[in-house]
Amino acid sequence: MSKPVIATASLAGCFGCHMSLLDIDDRILKLVELVEFNKSPIDDIKTFTKPVDVGLIEGGCCNSENVENLRAFRKNCKVLVSVGECAIMGGLPALRNGIPVRECLEEAFLNSPTVAPEDRIIPNDEEIPIVLDKVYPCHEIVKIDHFLPGCPPSADLIWEALTALVEGRPLNLTYEMIKFD
Ligand code: SF4
Repeated sequence: MSKPVIATASLAGCFGCHMSLLDIDDRILKLVELVEFNKSPIDDIKTFTKPVDVGLIEGGCCNSENVENLRAFRKNCKVLVSVGECAIMGGLPALRNGIPVRECLEEAFLNSPTVAPEDRIIPNDEEIPIVLDKVYPCHEIVKIDHFLPGCPPSADLIWEALTALVEGRPLNLTYEMIKFD
């Protein structure tokens, strides 16, 4: 019988939630037995090659590429999970919300004391995704089925939720596993 398929993505995230997934330590050997990975930075598969049972999303949406990627995950994944505070509510990157994008770009690329005078230019190439007016949580872009809080969520929480979802068990997420920082 074929294994359940999972996929993961980091949008406007820091890869800390992926590190927490890897923090399941030796259970990673069980995970490899239990599931097959499709599109994910963990295996470097860049495009979906088959339907996915569970998609894990780290990070919210701060640019046009994040939105495209998230929509592709929603289209290809039966169950989609927001992993971590960035995916759930924008997280720390959302601290820029409320500041005009132009002001953020000018601060980073024109006015910062660490930018050499000859490098003072706001990047503007069609290859670079367009920065959104603010950082959006994933559920404001697509339907999200489950939310795993934490920055990052604990490895135990990710393990319990993921194994329950791929095995078709109800999620048994205890108070001890859940944190919001
Ligand atoms: S929730 Fe925390 S650990 Fe996860 S991507 Fe955001 S900042 Fe990183």
